[in-house]
Amino acid sequence: MSHGRKINFAPGPSALPLEVLEKVHKELFNYNGSGMSILELSHRSALFADILNTAKQDLKELLKVPDNYHILFLQGGGTGQTAASALNLIGLKPSHMADYMVTGAWSAKAAKEASKYGKINHVFPKMESYTGIPDPSTWTMNPDSSYVFYCDNETIDGIEFPEIPETNGVSIICDMSSNILSRCVDVSKFGVIYAGAQKNLGTAGVTLVIVRDDLLTAIQPNCLSILDYSIMSKNNSLLNTPPVFSIYVLGLMAKYVKENGGLEKMEENSRIKSNAIYSVIDESDGFYKGKIDQKYRSRMNVVIRIGKPNACETLEKKFIEEAAKQDLISLKGHRSVGGIRISLYNSISIEDAEKLVEFMKDFQKQNS
Ligand code: PMP
Repeated sequence: MSHGRKINFAPGPSALPLEVLEKVHKELFNYNGSGMSILELSHRSALFADILNTAKQDLKELLKVPDNYHILFLQGGGTGQTAASALNLIGLKPSHMADYMVTGAWSAKAAKEASKYGKINHVFPKMESYTGIPDPSTWTMNPDSSYVFYCDNETIDGIEFPEIPETNGVSIICDMSSNILSRCVDVSKFGVIYAGAQKNLGTAGVTLVIVRDDLLTAIQPNCLSILDYSIMSKNNSLLNTPPVFSIYVLGLMAKYVKENGGLEKMEENSRIKSNAIYSVIDESDGFYKGKIDQKYRSRMNVVIRIGKPNACETLEKKFIEEAAKQDLISLKGHRSVGGIRISLYNSISIEDAEKLVEFMKDFQKQNS
């Protein structure tokens, strides 16, 4: 692979397309004939206004964002938004309560953070371990809640919502940090969508927020200005100095997705890539094991254990070492759950996934 690059299955920050990196490299010293690097460019300059507005427009087209939504570029990452979304909107209704659907580590963190600002109603019964999404007959939703929160794709546990849950008219706040731009989505079903950029949107430092217009009148007055959706929207995300470089890379990523078939193609590719990996797992006679119900298995993060329960760790260490010898890297599971995690964001090609498939089959032959 060129520049000595390897196939990087990291969960985030994750691989960027070579085209994007080469463009960054080419433009780094002198952006668009300005005589300045993007790293030195004023956020109030016309050049940066163009970068920011083009990125917004490209995202609007890709995600078919309706006109009554605002696209914001904020700071503080996905974690910042667990607090910011609650700070902005938990007072939307007098209950000062919000419904949280906890399906994994990130939604659990979001519920905990939001509980600092209001009351939390847990929609699902408490789970011993995360394996999927409970049947709707067990859900306890509160119609007086200000919003319903869920995380579309749990990056650590490998659980993805196959469809948007029914919330009976209550606005939805959704964390799409690890699957945004990987499938078509009906934005009109959401109150707020947020996503940290370091997976499918480029590099860490900027957080995308898409917020429905009518919610902006209900922002709590004690919300920090830099996190206040209404203030940031009025200022076109330029209340203070934004993460200029991260917004520039986000713009390049949006262009890359547009030029490579849009969300329809990303959806098709991610289905092919994840199906290929899950087939190896399903046909491995239990050598590779995932614990997520088939219906909720993530297309973005495949989480598995290898071998017999008492010998997993030795075999997983060997798997990671042998894979690295074939330039297949960043496969270690999250420290809280262990095992192997294969992240298949948009920058991983079908050919990259196929190389891993071949490696997994060979590894099983040699080690079972
Ligand atoms: N939500 C999800 C789904 C994530 O995957 C992550 C990070 N991996 C976060 C939130 C937190 O993002 P950040 O590290 O940008 O705060």
